[in-house]
Amino acid sequence: MAYQSTNPYDGKVVKSFDEINDAELEGKLKTASACFDKDWRTRSFADRAAIVKRAAALMRERSQALAELITLEMGKLIQQSVGEVALSAAILDYYAEHAEQFLAPEKLTTPKGEAMVESSPIGVLFGVEPWNYPYYQIARFAAPNLMAGNVVMVKHASSVPQCALAFEQLMTDAGAPAGAYTNLFVSKDQVAKIIDDPRIRAVALTGSEAAGAVVAAQAGKQLKKSTMELGGSDAFIVLEDADLDKAVKHAVSGRMGNSGQACTASKRFIVVEPLADSFLKKFQAALENFKPGDPMDKQTTLAPLSSAEALKKLVEQVDGAVAGGARVLMGGQRIEGQTGAFMQPTILTDISNSNPAYKEEFFGPVALFFKVADEDAAVALANDSPFGLGGSVFTQDIERGKRVARKIDTGMVFINSGAVSSPELPFGGVKNSGYGRELSGAGIQEFVNKKLIRVS
Ligand code: NAP
Repeated sequence: MAYQSTNPYDGKVVKSFDEINDAELEGKLKTASACFDKDWRTRSFADRAAIVKRAAALMRERSQALAELITLEMGKLIQQSVGEVALSAAILDYYAEHAEQFLAPEKLTTPKGEAMVESSPIGVLFGVEPWNYPYYQIARFAAPNLMAGNVVMVKHASSVPQCALAFEQLMTDAGAPAGAYTNLFVSKDQVAKIIDDPRIRAVALTGSEAAGAVVAAQAGKQLKKSTMELGGSDAFIVLEDADLDKAVKHAVSGRMGNSGQACTASKRFIVVEPLADSFLKKFQAALENFKPGDPMDKQTTLAPLSSAEALKKLVEQVDGAVAGGARVLMGGQRIEGQTGAFMQPTILTDISNSNPAYKEEFFGPVALFFKVADEDAAVALANDSPFGLGGSVFTQDIERGKRVARKIDTGMVFINSGAVSSPELPFGGVKNSGYGRELSGAGIQEFVNKKLIRVS
């Protein structure tokens, strides 16, 4: 598993990094464990907050350079990379400011004596993270857990090693002691060893179902708690009373943001009959405006996918959908004449429930379109998925929107917008999209010991 920066815009390898050996890994585990026991867990919230807040400030100071690393390594449009840096800094600030309140001791009402529940840190946590939002994913894991008094070790995706190092450097420069935040360039065999190590108390993974199943099984075997933030195929329901132009605008950003490579991207567009044809026409017209180019150039509207392999996989999925009877309304192929991993914005229609595409996640700018008769059919189709991450409902009747939202089997539903992520909103899914929550007050409760203290 080589850690390598490859620019997806031109396919050139920029930098490679060696994996650490087992002796180096042991040294890092020792340092992290000692840091937890002798230092980090003993610090006050104020002490930890000062460091985490400093990291947020440094992120903002270094915003342009950090954003350029994202774009270089995974191809995101530069202004979206700048946005990701800002969001990551906001997450760090959010936990620095709210952790103490989230974890405040809770006095229990008891007939006799005194009882309280205190939240104490559990130790060294291990995070396995994906490349699609290289800082945001780490901030979601590191900020709450560092503030809770845990220390974290992170195995980032092998395609974003410079982002991984830049984040670690940020924490060091902010004053985090050695071992509070540790980046690990490790192999998959070493991942298994790390999970088995008794010093590791819990595991968090964000990534595919396949990786989640492997890592969750390894953690389960050792009776270690885990959280899994996995894939999704979010439904984007447009009811007959929706504001059509608003729905189309959000459909475009929901499918095309990050070149479609988001777990909570809008992926299945389910439109109720009276609006279906006009929605589709406007959606297609809007997707035709995207122009491929250098993602470092602010004028570019269509970024490459993260890698040549990601593009190959997506084209194969589209081919599979077509073989299964789907119709390509637009796109469907790689963009020729570009060295980068560019995919044409694509709309597939006529997808039957026996088509493999019906249940798959399309991680790129490929929209699956479904026309349905009414609200009930829309909800039934939305729920007929192995995933349960997010989803959207468009209607001008907000109470109706809430009623529909309650019927959708996902961890998040957005009324009149595509998915949004913000520090105060819990993030996570059900079914094959995983379990556990990140962000918000919920995200800091996953890896703490809710300890009862009882006085008789
Ligand atoms: P991936 O292949 O699962 O990679 C994610 C991380 O897991 C990487 O660090 C990867 O390391 C590691 N990994 C993969 N297989 C592993 C194994 N057998 N043992 C240990 N570690 C392993 O995910 P991806 O395809 O790059 O990312 C896209 C997926 O992530 C999509 O399904 C997307 O929906 C999901 N995602 C979910 C969320 C969420 O919050 N729910 C957020 C973002 C993305 P290497 O890079 O070294 O292989």
